[in-house]
Amino acid sequence: MNWRVPLADVNLGVEEEEAVLQVLRSGWLTMGATTSAFEKQFSEFAGTKHAIAVNNATAALHLACMALSLGEGDEVILPSLTFVATANAIRYTGATPVFADLESEDWLCISLQAIEEKITERTKAIMVMHYAGFACDMPAIVELAKKYRLFVIEDAAHAVGASLQGRALGSWGDLGCYSFFGNKNMTTAEGGMVLTNSDELAEKVRIMRSHGMTSLTWDRHKGHASTYDVVALGYNYRIDEIRAAIGIEQLKTASRKRQTRSSDPTLSGEVRAALSRSGNAICGKRGQSSFHIFPVLLPEDVDKDAFRESLKEQGIQSSFHYPPVHHFENYRQFAPNSENDLAVTEQAAKEK
Ligand SMILES: *Cc1c(COP(=O)(O)O)cnc(C)c1O
Repeated sequence: MNWRVPLADVNLGVEEEEAVLQVLRSGWLTMGATTSAFEKQFSEFAGTKHAIAVNNATAALHLACMALSLGEGDEVILPSLTFVATANAIRYTGATPVFADLESEDWLCISLQAIEEKITERTKAIMVMHYAGFACDMPAIVELAKKYRLFVIEDAAHAVGASLQGRALGSWGDLGCYSFFGNKNMTTAEGGMVLTNSDELAEKVRIMRSHGMTSLTWDRHKGHASTYDVVALGYNYRIDEIRAAIGIEQLKTASRKRQTRSSDPTLSGEVRAALSRSGNAICGKRGQSSFHIFPVLLPEDVDKDAFRESLKEQGIQSSFHYPPVHHFENYRQFAPNSENDLAVTEQAAKEK
């Protein structure tokens, strides 16, 4: 189907084509100078000391959990209204996901109060997700985390270019994770990035990204190291030079594209007001959104399928973003009391 308004559009130009060709002709295909340049430029863009490129955001989230040594017996508080990868990353380490409710139907981010209610002696971390690119209440969440000595991980998969009080989303917590999947605002086809200001956490992420090895092929190629040790059970979560080259080009236009999304006449003013219940979730009341998703909640009695069919007839693509994670068969056990604990999430799910 040829959508007039697709859910996500791929925005690649001759610049990306040229950049890929250069890599192919260079003869160095994986994690080398282009990846380093991409990481450096991304860390400047996001304002963090470190940016570590990986093969996707799920790997980024997993590495973030591992860098914090999460494991069996630990609890991590997160929203249920997210892509399942957020929760999976926690479970890869053996830790338990604990779902907390959303702020409100006007702001579909995890609620500060709900987080605090879920804190137990086992809680080790909070994993927030900036839904659609709208900011969670990071100053308050970081403060709460300090009070209870918890770590904060930001799933910033939706949030390239988004900020709060002038600080990039993804740079507020101990670690932040970005996705460059094909339908995200900025893409490398598959790709992700871990952000942190901590030298220690960055070192752990770098080591775990490549088999737990202390030096990389690139370092050895450059004569920086002749051998290596393996100091942890690591993974192969590396990115390659082709994707890094696309990333560098995409980053150059990321701010301009965010601006375009924020001022798109079809998405601003009247249309937004007409489609949102109060306008907040779509217009934005906190920070600068990346506008990754144009969220719409419909009253419960509206026939959702008919609404989407009518959009389809007009060439407008739509999707459910997202079925709450705790509704999935593999996750039901993690939300035994969801009617009470996740009331806003349940209501939002009915209205999507
Ligand atoms: C896309 C997405 C991910 C996973 O990203 P990948 O790069 O596809 O692994 C994680 N969390 C959220 C909220 C996402 O939207």
